[in-house]
Amino acid sequence: MHSPAVLSVDLNALARNYHTLGRQIGALVHPVVKADGYGLGAAPCAQRLMAEGARTFFVARAAEGVALRTALGPEPIIYVLDGCHGAVAADFKAADVRPVLNQPAQMAAWAGAGGGACGLQIDTGMNRIGFRPEDAPEAFEGLALVLTHLACADEPSNPMNRRQRDLFDAVTQRYPGALRSFANSSGCFLGADFAFDAARPGVALFGGGPEGRPDERIAPVAALLADVLQVREVPAGESVGYSRGFVADRPVRVATVATGYADGVLRSYSPLGEAWVAGETRRLLGRVSMDVCAVDVTGLDVAVGDKVELFGPNRPLDAAAAAAGTISYELLTSITPRVPRIYRQ
Ligand SMILES: *Cc1c(COP(=O)(O)O)cnc(C)c1O
Repeated sequence: MHSPAVLSVDLNALARNYHTLGRQIGALVHPVVKADGYGLGAAPCAQRLMAEGARTFFVARAAEGVALRTALGPEPIIYVLDGCHGAVAADFKAADVRPVLNQPAQMAAWAGAGGGACGLQIDTGMNRIGFRPEDAPEAFEGLALVLTHLACADEPSNPMNRRQRDLFDAVTQRYPGALRSFANSSGCFLGADFAFDAARPGVALFGGGPEGRPDERIAPVAALLADVLQVREVPAGESVGYSRGFVADRPVRVATVATGYADGVLRSYSPLGEAWVAGETRRLLGRVSMDVCAVDVTGLDVAVGDKVELFGPNRPLDAAAAAAGTISYELLTSITPRVPRIYRQ
């Protein structure tokens, strides 16, 4: 059935970003496909990344790891960043999914389930998850990969980046047999010193710029496209939408577009949101409502059924996120299940 709003996913662009990131950092690229591939669909995205050469993937949750194993078959390595708690450790074994161990209780749980290949997270400054360097365990049987996560990688000149790098370099001397995994998307652009053995990019694979703004090195992957439902002329003095969020000070032509916050078009787009329509970037008018939003199409030749792009190749994801007061990550992961994902390759 025709859906008036779709998320179009360009798998060729995903593949280009994968290779760009690898060239940029000069390390293995282990894609992060948590949160259903940043909302784009973990299985089809990871399948394409496998075809491009990826052999190790990261997700956040155990259930994401188990689902990805089913989608990808037995070959690739899958790490779960959350690690394994208590009884869940057996499920990791059953699905052949590796935990990233973050605290002593997880080490005990993994050993209790029989142990085996796993990762270890060192917290080099985020104070979020993982072992502090001074509490990091000695090398142990099964340890295959050690990672840490950058706090400020989207700010290349922030001295925190080098502090974390040097701390990681020092602590990983203890684990000579383990692969060292360091850079996230933004980290891939910090230079060769930050390569270590493997990178874990997420958002840049899916089109997010490494510094939170549109970046020509990263290809747009996702496009949120919605149909025009109705076009009307609104005279001066009348208003559009809830709470009279927009009041016309001159006659305007308004396109009502079939996408709203129930699709993930954030209500915080009002009042700065824009959309691309009929070859131009135009402002959203008034409040985004649940199923529709309004776009100023004054002077444009727009008809029912025409496509409006909320973000995509013509309306950069990072610019759209900034207009909503947020970041590309949140924009992508906010797209709801009501919006079909359509894959192009
Ligand atoms: C989400 C996440 C990543 C990927 O981060 P991006 O900024 O999307 O590239 C890498 N490592 C860890 C530990 C994460 O939580």
